[in-house]
Amino acid sequence: MSKEELIEEVATEVMACRKCPLWKKRKRPVPGEGDINADVMFIGEAPGYWEDIKGKPFVGSAGEILDELLSKIGLSRNKVYIANILKCRPPENRDPSASEIEACVPYLDQQLRIIKPKIIVTLGRHSTSYILSKCGLEAAGITELHGRKYEVELLGFKILLIPMYHPAAVLYNPKYRSALERDFQLLRRELERLRCI
Ligand code: URA
Ligand code: SF4
Repeated sequence: MSKEELIEEVATEVMACRKCPLWKKRKRPVPGEGDINADVMFIGEAPGYWEDIKGKPFVGSAGEILDELLSKIGLSRNKVYIANILKCRPPENRDPSASEIEACVPYLDQQLRIIKPKIIVTLGRHSTSYILSKCGLEAAGITELHGRKYEVELLGFKILLIPMYHPAAVLYNPKYRSALERDFQLLRRELERLRCI
């Protein structure tokens, strides 16, 4: 099967999934989208209000901030892949529960195996701690982890992990914008160093 077909297969499974109770209240599941040959994959937390309506990741106000951050480093959204830890929206955007994460992450793992990005940017503490635990590393807080790159082995291949604050943090406190902008500059430098751009 081609990469396209494999990614389509994951999306089809997600669309019909009832592995955790979140299927009951979702409008649309959000499998993820972007370039399946991307060098960089962004992993967020879970769909919010607009993502649930449109079935696409990061299309609400956090998505606007993500788009701004991408455009500031000259990266277009259709050159990256964007997915979330949970594919369905938790009610009132509450935090994902441990059992929901456990039920849903096999889809993300499949997407990672198919896309095999060189760089993974985790947005926020949930995706950061999931990816770190998968690499066998202890999850420190996002405040200590962000702004640095970590060469790790994930699912049997080497990746560069760059944890960042969640773009929605800027909506609650504008001070996070400059930290995110600096971390995106690090991403840009790493993309150049790895000759991805
Ligand atoms: N926040 C996320 O973590 N993911 C989305 O897709 C939208 C908002
Ligand atoms: Fe299935 Fe994940 Fe949606 Fe739960 S959140 S129903 S595990 S796709």
